[in-house]
Amino acid sequence: MERDKQGRFVKGHNGLKMEKNPTWKGGRIIDKGSGYVRIAIGGKRYKTEHRIIMEQHLVRKLKPDEDIHHIDGNRQNNKIDNLQLMSKSDHTSLHHKGSTKPKPYKCKVCGVLTASKKHKMCRKHYKQWWQKQNGSYKKFM
Ligand SMILES: [Zn+2]
Ligand SMILES: [Zn+2]
Repeated sequence: MERDKQGRFVKGHNGLKMEKNPTWKGGRIIDKGSGYVRIAIGGKRYKTEHRIIMEQHLVRKLKPDEDIHHIDGNRQNNKIDNLQLMSKSDHTSLHHKGSTKPKPYKCKVCGVLTASKKHKMCRKHYKQWWQKQNGSYKKFM
């Protein structure tokens, strides 16, 4: 055990202090800057919860150029059906659409502002709709 100049014992590491903190919830914190949920993965290292959930879902590690988009815009809603895997560049352009296009298109199903102009549906609902169309089309063949 180390002592400081006054002869008091020096606390070992930050982890111990955190566990005694009443706001400590098993290493799950909300990053004030980004709004993302971060999970302690040992020591002082953190990983965003949505990446952990997507990796568990895909049963593989995410590649550095892969990003996760929160479909409803709520970065704390890390349910798998709210998470969309996309490339970093697609994700960046998706979030910067608002600045180039003054009027975003609302999905007629869920109301998110990432709908396509043509279909007025977000990717998720357009896919569902398309699968429905495709399914019924097949039945008539
Ligand atoms: Zn996003
Ligand atoms: Zn939608």
